[in-house]
Amino acid sequence: MITEHGVLPIALGDNWAYALPTSDGVILIDAGPDYDGAWDALAAQLDAAGLAIGDVRYVAITHAHIDHCGLAFRWQEAGVPVAASELEVQSFLHGRNIIGYQTQYVFEHMRRVGVPEERIAGFIESRERMRRAFRSGDNTGGGVRRERWPGLIRGTPFRPDEPLADGAEIRLGDRRVVLVSAPGHTPGNCVFFEPETGALFSGDQVIPGLNSNPGWHWDISAEPPERFRSLPAFAESLDRIEALDVRHLYPGHREPSDEVAEEIERVRRHHRKRQGQLREMLGEGPRSPYELLMTMFSRLPDRRLWQAMAEVTGHIDALVVRGEAGEDESDGLLTIRLV
Ligand SMILES: [Zn+2]
Repeated sequence: MITEHGVLPIALGDNWAYALPTSDGVILIDAGPDYDGAWDALAAQLDAAGLAIGDVRYVAITHAHIDHCGLAFRWQEAGVPVAASELEVQSFLHGRNIIGYQTQYVFEHMRRVGVPEERIAGFIESRERMRRAFRSGDNTGGGVRRERWPGLIRGTPFRPDEPLADGAEIRLGDRRVVLVSAPGHTPGNCVFFEPETGALFSGDQVIPGLNSNPGWHWDISAEPPERFRSLPAFAESLDRIEALDVRHLYPGHREPSDEVAEEIERVRRHHRKRQGQLREMLGEGPRSPYELLMTMFSRLPDRRLWQAMAEVTGHIDALVVRGEAGEDESDGLLTIRLV
């Protein structure tokens, strides 16, 4: 059903894509994930609202995670131009390997932050187990977490037709949305804002009730590849969003919300709490990031290692960028100390 702000939310597994009907066709925010049946599900939901695939004139993508951009290639095959932030273009070109191409840096970095070899092996094994179970169709049990989409989601590389700069407007018929660059969740993440309705299509930047996880990303065009400090960037992006007159959140996951200020404050509160915990631990002396992780989450299953390590690293980065903590490296091992 089209909301009072003229937005049709389209449910695709765990994700929302949003259709914005204008006087001259539809703008679609996020391409949707690519699982078997996703395209038909999308078409059926457009149809139920009196719209059609052929009405879509523009697809605007928030970031290069395959649950948001998986169907981009399909839209391009249908002749629909795809727009995204110019900062994210490299990642879209890696397709299914959007995360996979970074895996080698992830393992190297796990060693650098002090994760023991047997835990890295356990992490790799848990990923393999999940993949095997998922391929065999068992996505509900066998110690594997329930998957969030009806099937395996694919990532097909594509080149955005229109790489857009911060502040660029997408105009169609009687509507316009503005690209607001919001690095953090990914290095080239962006959100789309419609000033006339106050609607923000927030992707994974602001998800009601959820703390968007800072990821590990490397800029592989640098030599040696440079790690992107995601959480400080994420926090700055929140400040940028707060400065807009946002009245309605249309997130990439979970339900839309009008509690904009509350959601932003909730995320900041979580950041303050985590960073306070880190300062407290570091008050007892320098620690490796892995030691900090194990104090924070003592019973962490191997399969959650990457995600949890990325979160702790994010908060360490925030302390480092604010000058509250320093990093020392010797024999390839990182130690964090209070400044
Ligand atoms: Zn994401």
